[in-house]
Amino acid sequence: MNHDFDVLSAARNWRVETPTRATPAQIVSELFASDVLTLEELKTRLSKPAYKSLRGTVERGETLDPAIADTVALAMKTWAMEKGATHYTHWFQPLTGATAEKHDAFLSPTGDGGAIAAFSGKELIQAEPDASSFPSGGLRATFEARGYTAWDPSSPAFIMRHANGATLCIPTAFASWTGEALDLKTPLLRSVEALNRAVTPALHLFGASLGTRVGSTLGAEQEYFLIAEEYFYRRPDLVMTGRTLFGAQPPRGQELEDHYFGAIPDRVLSFMTDAELQLYALGIPVKTRHNEVAPGQFEIAPIFESSNVAADHQQLIMQVLRNTARKYGLVALLHEKPFAGVNGSGKHCNWSMSTDAGENLLEPGDTPHENLQFLFFCAAVLKAVDEHQDLLRISVASASNDHRLGANEAPPAIISIFLGSELTDIFDRLESGEGGRGTEAGLLGLGSPVLPPLPRHAGDRNRTSPFAFTGNKFEFRAVGSSQSISFPITVLNTIVADAVQSLTEQLKAKLQNGLDLAEAVGEIVRDTYRQHKRIVFNGDGYSQEWHQEAERRGLLNLRTSLDAIPHLTDPKNVALFGKFGVLSERELAARQEIMYDIYFKTVNIEGETTEYIAQTMILPAAAEYLGDLSAVQRPSRALDATATEVAQLTDELYDALQNLREQNRALGGDEIVEKAHHVRDHVLPAMQEVRRAADNLEKVVAEKYWPLPTYRQMMFVK
Ligand code: ADP
Ligand code: MG
Repeated sequence: MNHDFDVLSAARNWRVETPTRATPAQIVSELFASDVLTLEELKTRLSKPAYKSLRGTVERGETLDPAIADTVALAMKTWAMEKGATHYTHWFQPLTGATAEKHDAFLSPTGDGGAIAAFSGKELIQAEPDASSFPSGGLRATFEARGYTAWDPSSPAFIMRHANGATLCIPTAFASWTGEALDLKTPLLRSVEALNRAVTPALHLFGASLGTRVGSTLGAEQEYFLIAEEYFYRRPDLVMTGRTLFGAQPPRGQELEDHYFGAIPDRVLSFMTDAELQLYALGIPVKTRHNEVAPGQFEIAPIFESSNVAADHQQLIMQVLRNTARKYGLVALLHEKPFAGVNGSGKHCNWSMSTDAGENLLEPGDTPHENLQFLFFCAAVLKAVDEHQDLLRISVASASNDHRLGANEAPPAIISIFLGSELTDIFDRLESGEGGRGTEAGLLGLGSPVLPPLPRHAGDRNRTSPFAFTGNKFEFRAVGSSQSISFPITVLNTIVADAVQSLTEQLKAKLQNGLDLAEAVGEIVRDTYRQHKRIVFNGDGYSQEWHQEAERRGLLNLRTSLDAIPHLTDPKNVALFGKFGVLSERELAARQEIMYDIYFKTVNIEGETTEYIAQTMILPAAAEYLGDLSAVQRPSRALDATATEVAQLTDELYDALQNLREQNRALGGDEIVEKAHHVRDHVLPAMQEVRRAADNLEKVVAEKYWPLPTYRQMMFVK
């Protein structure tokens, strides 16, 4: 029935819906952010005092004046309706990692049979979605299942368009009625504030003016696969789990490496252009696009923005990629490991700290003074990452990311920092106090009044490091392609806030003891590096030697998610998040519970889907082929041998399937932690055995009997 996949139709099946062609000039002047309610736009629509008050909230985090809410709401509604919006929604990010929206029409009945368009300040500021079906990890008792969404004025409202209309989306935080965060945005906002509070005192010591604010900046590079839609819907595993649970390796994988940065296929380029134009309208500054390493794998990267806005935009990028692919007869796979045997997908998070005047605090400068500041913050990052390896690992833990981290793929589950040889050299010389090349007394005795220019490398210099310094920012590479970037950034902001705060106290003490700034910073950088340099590793993170070396250094190797998740509520972490008011102990415990729950459900669904496909698709295909082979009147050695092999593999598949079935039924108790361990330790290996037999069958069963599109088709037909 399913035998004859029409490869040609899978390759051709795309509607040419060329979006309006736009010239670069038009993109800049007309298209960019045209569907975003920017501050400039609001300025033209609000009274001067209202605008000034709102700006204070947006730019300096001042509490919103409730008196202006109605005015802002009216301006928003008018703007949105001019843009064609009929509905509005509070757009939020529950702990599922996805986004949530519940649309309400602007229309309100008037009681006399008519209707008016209504949207008040109250509706702008707060709404109450039916929250009971979002995960709360026990934060909401069932008798108090209510939650509410609250407007985040620091991320601008925008218009989401669909074929038949448009919706005004208002970015919001989502909390329980008792004020506990039920989402990913709330702790992120809190962590930005923590970073600001920790870093500005340090900046003052370096001479920054009072009133300077600091935030983190983030640019996320999204990797994804594209496959023909037709194939996607014939693969229950892709539909149900986002990854292939079966599939023999094609004769050719990524070994030719001809796909990477290769010419982008026409259909894909049309899709990308379409997606980019939509993203421009949403004010998302996408800049880079290229083929990735694996066949059928691509990347899209925006220019960095403030981390809260970047996190919202990252969610929109994923949504636009998914929706737009369908218009071209394609499906965008955002899963971390859709195909075994070729590279998986990550989402590199480029992170730095910046002042509101746009000064990048991780940019080595041109003067000794700037370099002191740079080395100070760089040392703080080393300290933060070394002391909180566990948290960084936890922030990227998921069942799907386990197929990358800790599996035989980059980056490894061991967290380390790549500094590059130039910067490592500087730290080494500071540590040894050996001074510098020349004879002139220079910065910290380095022999040069300024640091040598540090080369900006594209992330490619060392692809194996989970956390790399790339010239003026750090790149956290362990983040998974399908996950929200909010929690990884929350962790980064918080751990760096902690380290900066502690180094700042040391600095203050030294200055009080009469050291000058250069001497004091020199000592701090030297001591910090000495204490934390075990975290620096510039070599090949894939290698077996590194695993042994890392163990000698005492670095953590939390191989699977379940090894990492328990540490979320370690006393050190409860204290850290509590100290900065980012997450309370209860909020952490809730997150931990949800992580276990999602892990369990993910693998459980995979186990069930594997069973279903093996039983109802693969076994019947093998049986049918075997039947046809046996029905041949004049047997031959070739037919006999094939039949024997198919019969043998079918039995193997059947046996493996019996085991999987048992494991799927024996879910290991009531506790979610036990269940999660059961699926990791018993269901995953059982699935692996089923897959091995099935993939071997795929290699011998005649193609026309095979019920699933193959790797060869899915990865190479574009
Ligand atoms: P390359 O790594 O190829 O030299 P870039 O450094 O320009 O390229 O950028 C890689 C990613 O890092 C982009 O998303 C970019 O916007 C982001 N990025 C650049 N500078 C910063 C910064 N200061 N903070 C956060 N992200 C940044
Ligand atoms: Mg990169």
